[in-house]
Amino acid sequence: MLQLEDVHASYGNVHALRGISLRVEKDSVVSLLGANGAGKSTVLKALSGLLRPKSGSIVFGGERIDRSKPEHIVRRGIVMVPEGRQVFPELTVRENLMLGAYSRGDRAQIKQDYEGVLETFPILKVKAKNFAGTLSGGQQQMLAIGRGLMARPKLLLLDEPSLGLAPIIVQEIFSVIRDISKRGTTILLVEQNANMALDVSDYAYVLETGQISGQGNSQQMREND
Ligand code: ADP
Ligand code: ADP
Repeated sequence: MLQLEDVHASYGNVHALRGISLRVEKDSVVSLLGANGAGKSTVLKALSGLLRPKSGSIVFGGERIDRSKPEHIVRRGIVMVPEGRQVFPELTVRENLMLGAYSRGDRAQIKQDYEGVLETFPILKVKAKNFAGTLSGGQQQMLAIGRGLMARPKLLLLDEPSLGLAPIIVQEIFSVIRDISKRGTTILLVEQNANMALDVSDYAYVLETGQISGQGNSQQMREND
């Protein structure tokens, strides 16, 4: 479904990606692991069109997207849930979710997607009319993921969904990630919490200073640890 071949990317003279090659197969959950500053978020930025690679190729669903604009990429089905539980605090849960459906007009479809997201996140159904700013951190993270789902992703990019959340909430988030995957959404997950990530992943890559320093399925990754 997604293939990166020898991707290089820089911020000014910071050479953040130094030849990244990886692939994500349809219906899988793939993790990008590695220490702070390794280049994980930069991979997600390159995938969503926010940072244009200096060289290399990114192919998604048979089409090269490394020169595409973010709007085009979203329409092709790559949807990013950025780090830091980004919600609109002064809009309700329902309004936040509806914003995720922005580029589509089919009301019946949007309603069906909305019901689907509430099924995946029962707590959002309870809180549908509350302002997003009144939700707990974990609930806001679920809302941010739910908003991403409203855009009907083929590939969902999750940047550090567990960041700053209590362990019990992290477990809940990962259980939801598993549900989303079972319902047919392919997921590329950036995580510092390697153990949690490997539990839900089919395959993982480890990044180190802009390069891939290890890869394998969850079992292989645990054995090599
Ligand atoms: P090759 O590159 O020769 O196809 P790999 O060593 O990359 O083989 O893969 C070994 C196994 O892991 C294969 O079963 C492959 O389908 C699976 N695999 C490899 N990469 C991914 C990925 N990104 N997502 C899911 N499964 C993967
Ligand atoms: P990770 O997500 O693995 O923590 P990043 O992809 O955020 O790593 O960062 C990779 C490298 O790029 C680091 O050296 C980081 O300091 C640098 N970097 C990230 N964002 C910027 C930016 N906006 N401007 C300059 N350098 C950046």
